[in-house]
Amino acid sequence: MPKVSHRQQQEEPVLAYELHGNLYLNITYHCTLRCAFCPKFQGSWEVQNYDLLLTREPEADEVLTAAGDPARYKEIVFCGLGEPTLRLDTLVAVAKALKARGAQHIRINTDGLANLVYGRDVTPELAQWVDSVSISLTAQDEATYDRHTRSKRPGAYAAMLDFARAAKASGIAVTLTAINGLEGVDIAACEEIARQLGVKFRRRELDVVG
Ligand code: SF4
Repeated sequence: MPKVSHRQQQEEPVLAYELHGNLYLNITYHCTLRCAFCPKFQGSWEVQNYDLLLTREPEADEVLTAAGDPARYKEIVFCGLGEPTLRLDTLVAVAKALKARGAQHIRINTDGLANLVYGRDVTPELAQWVDSVSISLTAQDEATYDRHTRSKRPGAYAAMLDFARAAKASGIAVTLTAINGLEGVDIAACEEIARQLGVKFRRRELDVVG
């Protein structure tokens, strides 16, 4: 059995956790955005009974040890209460090693701002090891996006859409997501944006990780 730990049961940070038959990896607590709806800004780092608070950024070998045998899972997902691409080198090192150990499918749940953060297109590098990305579209327009994500970076919304295009062009399967029930968010309009980009769309529910 892989080491999947609840903080309630032991004091070790939760670097890997199981949900929906998938394995989720928690590699950072830093974010580019400061989403008003994020549980961590309500003082909670708990997601489905897993306390995802990290007191430091884990090394790649620590994440790999926590992941155990990656071949056991249909999907391995980089997703915590932080933005995985902010640790690009660690993410790539872990994804590469997981693939070498038999991982079937690797996904990143991301804000889609990596190219804006790094000032270059990182999707060709990701495409070597990552099969899919789930990108937080969040809203159908920039004003609604900025209101909910409280982005400090000008042009974040356009950069996120450019990242989706770039990831698709690099051969990564792209899904855009938006959260049903957020004030002012038009799910049908979000779905139409995904359709126009030629990528998938998934409606998420507030506080449900996946
Ligand atoms: S990107 Fe995700 S983890 Fe980061 S603040 Fe927004 S909802 Fe929270």
